[in-house]
Amino acid sequence: MQDWIASGDDPLIISSGRGAVLVDSEGKEYLDGNSSIWTNIHGHGHAVINRAIQEQLEKIAHCSALGFSNEPAIQLGKKLVDFFPAESLTKVFYSDSGSTAIECACKMAVQFRQLRGQEEKSRFVSFSGAYHGDTVGAASLGGIGAFFDRFSSAGYEVERLENTNGLRSVDPGSINALIVEPLIQGAAGMKTWPSGMLKELRSWCDANDVFLILDEVMTGFGRTGKMFACQHEDVVPDFLCLAKGLTGGYLPLAATLTTDRVFDAFLGTYEEMKTFFYGHSYCANPLGCAAALGSLQVFEEEEVLAKLPGKIKSFADSLQSAFNDHPRVGEVRQVGLIAGIDLTGCDWKEQIGAKVSKAARKYGLLTRAVRDTLTLMPPLCSSDEQIREMTKALRRALDQVLPD
Ligand SMILES: *Cc1c(COP(=O)(O)O)cnc(C)c1O
Repeated sequence: MQDWIASGDDPLIISSGRGAVLVDSEGKEYLDGNSSIWTNIHGHGHAVINRAIQEQLEKIAHCSALGFSNEPAIQLGKKLVDFFPAESLTKVFYSDSGSTAIECACKMAVQFRQLRGQEEKSRFVSFSGAYHGDTVGAASLGGIGAFFDRFSSAGYEVERLENTNGLRSVDPGSINALIVEPLIQGAAGMKTWPSGMLKELRSWCDANDVFLILDEVMTGFGRTGKMFACQHEDVVPDFLCLAKGLTGGYLPLAATLTTDRVFDAFLGTYEEMKTFFYGHSYCANPLGCAAALGSLQVFEEEEVLAKLPGKIKSFADSLQSAFNDHPRVGEVRQVGLIAGIDLTGCDWKEQIGAKVSKAARKYGLLTRAVRDTLTLMPPLCSSDEQIREMTKALRRALDQVLPD
């Protein structure tokens, strides 16, 4: 805030948006190069999603989910479950952010072990560089110091691995669950995992009675080229955490999907006190669920997934032509419509990544770097031309900040 106040810049205020374009309070247009912090899927102001929200608003904006339900929540739950093989992920628990989707998975896992008399399975396995949210439990599973070091006296007991080789030294008898961002870690700087990793994790978890929690808060809803990242390796987790893109990026809503095996452990008479005492005021918010149904309708009507391979190829080509010859560009990583472009030889204190992102505004692009990794995440609705414009604008900004 000290830098922000001292800069004397007028803050950028976003006033409206259409498709992949955002408009500020002075009427200047920008391409939404990070999908409004990894949330937006079909673009802003999409008629189908707007209408879904408006129609729901005419009925009711919110009602409790304690002891009863609402129509959009029921319809959405059914659709989410139907993305997975029959009798795999069958139950949906709604909350309101990625962080709470993770909290919910973790608390269910902890209570499950207690209910099943497996108290010794009390620890979690996660990965270096992981990001699972900012609430205490979710943050404790993360592997980025800035988000949790100051709070490290709280949270879960976690064994953090660099990669799957680390599994060999883990005592699985003490492990409740393993959590991972499938295919690509976002906040780590768009770090990609080797292919085959998910299958390997699934079989390690199966062999050792460990829950597999997949955090698809960033990767869900087409971002990686398939509806969900786990579908690239035909892996079904025990808990699947969804948020950001669930509503197309329109409203805060999250879902934690799990299995009958987990659900059944919580069944019992009132006196047995097996209840999962967990809920947020806005769980299963009808407006959010209506937006999510609208987003899924767009996936179908516009055949969004079928159009992705061409866009992903355009993205790869334009990243290659924009960044292959810059002396300060190191690795360029891409999964679907997500990319990380590493800058080399930067002193972190100079905030080069942030400076390049800010310079890009002048060229009509809004995005946000992760330290010295530039990032781009075009909304799925972006045209080939818009994708090319985003990469070009980022390259021009890079040339401005780091002339070779
Ligand atoms: C953003 C994010 C979260 C946290 O989601 P919030 O809605 O910001 O709480 C968790 N995991 C991943 C992988 C994310 O990208």
